[in-house]
Amino acid sequence: MTGGGDTAGLPPAPEAVQIEVGLLQNFCEILYCPETRVAAIVDPAWEVDRLLREVERLGLKVELALITHTHNDHIEGVEELCDKTGATVVVNPREADRVRAPGRTLADAIDGRDVAIGRRGVRALETPGHTVGGTCYLADGYVVTGDVLFVGGCGRTDFQGGDTAALWQSLQRLMRLPEETRVYPGHNYGDTPTSTIGHETRSNPYLRCATFEEFRALRERKRKA
Ligand SMILES: [Zn+2]
Repeated sequence: MTGGGDTAGLPPAPEAVQIEVGLLQNFCEILYCPETRVAAIVDPAWEVDRLLREVERLGLKVELALITHTHNDHIEGVEELCDKTGATVVVNPREADRVRAPGRTLADAIDGRDVAIGRRGVRALETPGHTVGGTCYLADGYVVTGDVLFVGGCGRTDFQGGDTAALWQSLQRLMRLPEETRVYPGHNYGDTPTSTIGHETRSNPYLRCATFEEFRALRERKRKA
């Protein structure tokens, strides 16, 4: 991937394994460096045992938990994962106090900062709107979008900390990524488990809105997802 903006100078991308977990169609990702076998788990909330079996099968060592945002269905398993692996939790400082994992090592997900995963890495992109410190993790070729962008949808803004104008700005930022960028959303709400920025730009009703007013009207009409 080349070009400026958010993708400039990205580190080589970790391998990504997407796993659907729990009762709310959540997606977890295992991101790992194939050389060093160092891994990060995105949003450990459900079925931590199952995630760790997959980690073992792949011969990985979990060093990080990357948090997209701190709704319970994305963080419920952080403490268990940390207990079992000693992972450091990477979370936006605006939401760090919601991670109930006393004694855990926390690292800040700061906008534009790269997080190393072995010899690979991802970049934190601050994308508020669904929550106040919502964070996407951008790799060279894909982006983990949490509850900001879904396949065919986007996050709600009627929870605490939600902000429809901020979400609009965050989505505009994601739309500026190269169109081949693969999207790994936080829930399996769409027709397919993943998509691309280009496909979403053309087909996702929220990304097709021409103006913020149109977006706000659509977002406020549909309360689900
Ligand atoms: Zn959420």
